[in-house]
Amino acid sequence: MEKDIFVTSPFLPEKEVFLQYVDRIWDSRWLTNQGPLHEQFRGELKSYLEAPYVTLVVNGHMALEIAIRGLGVKGEVITTPFTFASTIHSLCLNNIKPVFCDIKEDDFTMNPDLIEGLITEKTTAIMPVHVYGHLCDVERIEAIAKKHHLKVIYDAAHAFGVKKNGKSVGMYGDAAAFSFHATKLFNTIEGGALVYQNPEYERIFNAYKNFGIEGEEEIVFVGGNAKMNEFQSAMGLANLPYMEQIIEDRKSATLKYRELLGKLPGIYFYIPEEVEGIKYNYAYMPIQIREEAGVSRDRLYEELKRERIFARKYFYPIATQYDCYRDLPYMKTSKAPVAEKVGDSILTLPLYYNMGLDTVTFICEKICKIMGR
Ligand SMILES: *Cc1c(COP(=O)(O)O)cnc(C)c1O
Repeated sequence: MEKDIFVTSPFLPEKEVFLQYVDRIWDSRWLTNQGPLHEQFRGELKSYLEAPYVTLVVNGHMALEIAIRGLGVKGEVITTPFTFASTIHSLCLNNIKPVFCDIKEDDFTMNPDLIEGLITEKTTAIMPVHVYGHLCDVERIEAIAKKHHLKVIYDAAHAFGVKKNGKSVGMYGDAAAFSFHATKLFNTIEGGALVYQNPEYERIFNAYKNFGIEGEEEIVFVGGNAKMNEFQSAMGLANLPYMEQIIEDRKSATLKYRELLGKLPGIYFYIPEEVEGIKYNYAYMPIQIREEAGVSRDRLYEELKRERIFARKYFYPIATQYDCYRDLPYMKTSKAPVAEKVGDSILTLPLYYNMGLDTVTFICEKICKIMGR
């Protein structure tokens, strides 16, 4: 291969399609604050996600923070250390103590068997992550939350387009936070959304993303600014019609990876669509390099880099090991042995729209060579 292969490459729509929306911004002279494109995009997203309520926000991180503030979450929140930094920071930035629940060995999502043992009188919510688009054990989490009167905010940043028994991923929990960052499956350059079913939340989330303002003379919450603007909405409108095509293309690349890597010893990957009723989105291609592989994750990562294949160690380090957290007393006592082990052995391979099966084959050949196969 002539060029560097990165872990992802952002999807771009036909430029003409995007520019037609941009022309409308010039016509309306409306740049932000619930403009016409924002409203159109919100409507189209609602139908795509089959969700009754959608609040658009400036990015996925602020979707999490607005859900936290809007739902009055405080004290302690049970979450997973095996995630992107944003999940944990969204809690700490709101003076909430993240309490770490270990993950499952098979799909790397929160282990529901361990949740109840972590609940204290300060616990107000659970924040699980549909990591890599692998759906959490939503039924068990819901039952635990009901029993203990806890809110559930899903970090659904990886799970756009995922369904279970025909039900959209956004329909689980009190709210689900999506990210539409450039590197995500679906992008609005930067962007995000909250999806939820309680009509009362709409007013609250809308105020929190706009300085807590509810009317010209009513400022009801201490809120920041997290509004999605018209250019982001234009990108969303231009990209949304490509979703099925994007998912189909990534599916064929994923199947090729599985075909070529599946027989190698010690290379483990989880196959979500083999779970009854799951429609997966092929957002990432994580592999776990287990003992039998005879090569370490770090060596594989370095050797691929030498071949100009830039895989990423998503998610290493895990949250308890971050420089900014590891010295906190309660981080030192947080135990998540499975997450630690997975963090030390996971590697996310390049996967993006239109990468081509020849590129997948090229990467797999290099992996085989490094493993001495
Ligand atoms: C990307 C991501 C976020 C943050 O989303 P942004 O749109 O980048 O702010 C939060 N959580 C997870 C798991 C993510 O991958």
